[in-house]
Amino acid sequence: MKINGFRGRLITADHADYDTARAVWNGAVDRRPRLIARCGGSADVAAAVRFARDHDLEIAVRGGGHNVAGTAVCEDGIVIDLSAMRAVRVDPAGRTARVQGGALWGDVDHTTQAHALATTGGIVSHTGVAGLTLGGGIGFLMRAHGLTVDNLLAAEVVTAEGDVVRASADEHPDLFWALRGGGGNFGVVSSFRFALHPVGPTVLAGPIFWAADDTTEVLRFYRDFAAEAPDELGTVVRLGTVPPLPAIPAELHWRPAVAVICCYAGAVDDGERAVRALRRFGTPLVDLLAPTRYAAFQAATDDTVLHGWHYYWKSTNLAGLSDDTIAVITDHAYAARSPRSYSAMFHMGGAVARVPQDATAYAGREVAHNIIIDGVWLPAESGKHAAAETAWARRFLQALQPHRATGVYVNFLDSDDDTGRVREAYGDRTYRRLAEVKAKYDPDNAFHHNKNIGPG
Ligand SMILES: Cc1cc2nc3c(=O)[nH]c(=O)nc-3n(C[C@H](O)[C@H](O)[C@H](O)COP(=O)(O)OP(=O)(O)OC[C@H]3O[C@@H](n4cnc5c(N)ncnc54)[C@H](O)[C@@H]3O)c2cc1C
Repeated sequence: MKINGFRGRLITADHADYDTARAVWNGAVDRRPRLIARCGGSADVAAAVRFARDHDLEIAVRGGGHNVAGTAVCEDGIVIDLSAMRAVRVDPAGRTARVQGGALWGDVDHTTQAHALATTGGIVSHTGVAGLTLGGGIGFLMRAHGLTVDNLLAAEVVTAEGDVVRASADEHPDLFWALRGGGGNFGVVSSFRFALHPVGPTVLAGPIFWAADDTTEVLRFYRDFAAEAPDELGTVVRLGTVPPLPAIPAELHWRPAVAVICCYAGAVDDGERAVRALRRFGTPLVDLLAPTRYAAFQAATDDTVLHGWHYYWKSTNLAGLSDDTIAVITDHAYAARSPRSYSAMFHMGGAVARVPQDATAYAGREVAHNIIIDGVWLPAESGKHAAAETAWARRFLQALQPHRATGVYVNFLDSDDDTGRVREAYGDRTYRRLAEVKAKYDPDNAFHHNKNIGPG
C-alpha cells in the first residue's frame, strides 16, 4: 500500500508491529484498522487525510492514545497516528513551547522543567497533549495559570481538505476558538504553541491520606478549605484503596482511604502556609506532602493507571459539596469490587473561572468541582470485574443525579452510553457555535470518530 506524498510508516495487519500499533491505553478497546499511518510531520498528516478522503476511509486520529473511549483507533479505517511526533521545543526567553501533536505530558514537563517553566497539563504523565488540550485541559496548575486551552497561543492544523493552516487569535480565529475545547472535530493538530510560566522545579506537592472511615469529615473540611484556598494551590481528592506505590508505606497498600493530593504552584514556604490547616486535620494515615520535583510529581501516579488495563468511566460536574452530596460520595466511593477502581474530584475555580465563558469552547468554567468515577480492572479479571465495575460506576453517577451541575468534562466521557452526552458537555449555546465552525471546516464530518459535533 502506498500514500502519495507520505514519508512516514504505514502499518497494516500483516506487520509484526500491528497489534502494538493498534493498542490504545484502554485495553478493553480492541479495534482493527485497515491501515495505521504513522506520520513524521504535518506533510504526512496532510497526505494521510487526503488519502483517507479520496478512498472514503473512516478516520481516527491518535495523539497519546489515552482517551478512555478509544476513539484514537477505528475498525477497518485509517488511523492517522501522531505518536512518532513528540518533539517539544522551548523558547525560555519568550516563555513559550512548541509541542508536536503526538507528545505526552511527560515530554512537555521534562523539557519545560529544564528551564523551571511549565504549563497546565494533566495529572498523569503518559496522557497525550493533543486530546487533552483540545478538550480543555484540567490539572494542578489550572487555578493559577488557567486551563491548558487558556495557555494555547496557536496551533498548526491539517484541515479536512488536507490543507495546513495556522489557527491563533489573528489567523482563523473561529477555528482557534473551536479548538480550545471542541475536541478533534475540526482538523488534525500537528503542533501546538503554549505559554509557559515559572514553576518549580521544586514545588510543595503530594498526597495526604486519611482512613476511609473519616471520609465524611475530611470532605466537609475540604469543602471549606478548598473554597478559601489560594489560586496557587491545586488539589484533587482521590477516593479508593491506597495504591501500592513504593513511596507509600507498604502496610497501607490496598487499604480504603481518601487522599487530598496537593500541588502548590509557588514558593515552597508559601505552600507550607497554604496547606497547614489541611495537614493538621484529623489523624492522617500518612502525609506525603513535601518539596518535590514538579516533573516527578506529575508522574507519581502513572503506575496506578497503566496501559492495557481495562477501564470504564463515568463523570459529572457537581453543583457543590453539600452534606448530602458528600453522603452520596462516601456511600458509593468504596463500593467498587476491584481494588484498582477509584474516583477523583478536581477542584476547579481560580484562573479557570476568570476567563469569560465565550472566550473558548470549554464549557463549565463556573463549576467548582467535578468528579470522575473510574472502574479499573486487569484484563485477566474481566470475567470477575467488568460487569460489576461498570454497574458500580453507573450506580454512583445515578446516585449523584440530584447533586449534579449541568455539564460534564468532554474528555471524561466514555463510549457507548456516553455518546449522547456530547451536547450536555457543551450546553446548547456553545454546541451550536461549535456546529457552525464544524460546518465551515469539516462540512462532510470526515472527523467524526470522536466526541462528535455534527455540522450545523
Ligand atoms: C489516566 C488518565 C488521566 C487523565 N488525566 C487528565 C487530566 O488530569 N486532565 C485532563 O484534562 N484530562 C485528563 N485525562 C483525559 C484526557 O484529556 C483524554 O483522555 C484525552 O483524550 C487524552 O488525549 P490523547 O491525545 O492521549 O487522546 P487520544 O486517545 O490519542 O485521542 C482522543 C481524541 O482526541 C482527538 N485527537 C487526538 N490527537 C489529536 C490531534 N493531534 N489532532 C486532532 N485531534 C486529536 C481525536 O478526536 C481522538 O479521537 C486523563 C485520561 C487518562 C486516561
